Amino acid sequence: MAKVFAIANQKGGVGKTTTCVNLAASLVATRRRVLLLDLDPQGNATTGSGVDKLSLDYSVYDVLTGKCSLVEAMHFSEHGGYQLLPANRDLTAAEVALLNMPAKEKRLREALAPVRENYDYILIDCPPSLSMLTVNALAAADGVIIPMQCEYYALEGLTDLVNSIQRIAVALNAELRIEGIVRTMYDPRSSLTNQVSEQLKAHFADRLYETVIPRNVRLAEAPSHGMPVLEYDRQSKGAQAYLALASELARRQRRPTRT
Ligand code: ADP
Ligand code: MG
Repeated sequence: MAKVFAIANQKGGVGKTTTCVNLAASLVATRRRVLLLDLDPQGNATTGSGVDKLSLDYSVYDVLTGKCSLVEAMHFSEHGGYQLLPANRDLTAAEVALLNMPAKEKRLREALAPVRENYDYILIDCPPSLSMLTVNALAAADGVIIPMQCEYYALEGLTDLVNSIQRIAVALNAELRIEGIVRTMYDPRSSLTNQVSEQLKAHFADRLYETVIPRNVRLAEAPSHGMPVLEYDRQSKGAQAYLALASELARRQRRPTRT
C-alpha cells in the first residue's frame, strides 16, 4: 500500500517541484514503484518529467472533476521511471469547479484510493498556496514533506503551514502528520543558514531530515532537458543529495510510527 506524501510549502521557489521530481526518480532508483502527481497549474513537475503539458488529452483537472479516470490521465516518465499524473493551466479552474462538488476536499483522496496498492510511494507536488488544491493534497496524504530554504522569513511561513496541517488533521484526515522537513538550496557557509538550521533542529527534532540539498546548478538545469538530475548528471552533488534523501526517507519508514 503506497505511502502518500504531499510536498508542500505555500511559499513559491523553495524547491517543492525540484524535490518532488528528484525524490521520485531517486526512489525509483532504489526499486520503489512511484506515482508523481502534479497538482500545480504551472505544470513544472510535468515538464520536468519530460511530458509536454500543452498536448495533454487529460490532466489531473479532468480526474478531479470526474471527466476521466486516474489511469486514463496517466503518463510514464521515461527519464524518471515513474508514473506521472500531469497538470497544466486547466487546473486554475479547479478552485471554482470544486466549490460545487460533493466532498470537495476529498476528491483527490477518492481518486487515489483504487491505485494506492499499485505503488510504494505517491508524491504530490503542491501549488504555492494553501488553496483548495493543497487542501485536497493534505486530505489525501499520510504525511507532508516540507522543503524549505534556511532564511529568515521561512520560519514565519512554516508556522502558518504547520497550523494548516493541524486544522486539516482535525477536520479531514486524522492520520496526517509532518513526515519531514528538508533544507533546500543549502549553503553551509552562510551564518543565517546555520542559525535557522539550529532553530529547525530545536523545534522539529527528528522530523528534520539529516540530508541537506545543496545549491547545485545541475539541479536547476535538469528540468529544461525534461529529466531528473539523476539522468542528467548522476555524479552531481544534487543527484547524490536526492539519492541520500530517498534512502533516509525509506529508512524512516521502517521505524515505528512517530506522532
Ligand atoms: P517551487 O516548486 O517550490 O516553486 P522549484 O523546485 O521550482 O520551487 O525551485 C525554484 C527554482 O530554484 C527553480 O528554478 C529550480 O530549478 C531552482 N532550484 C531548486 N532547488 C535548487 C537547488 N538545490 N540548487 C539550485 N537550484 C535549485
Ligand atoms: Mg513548483
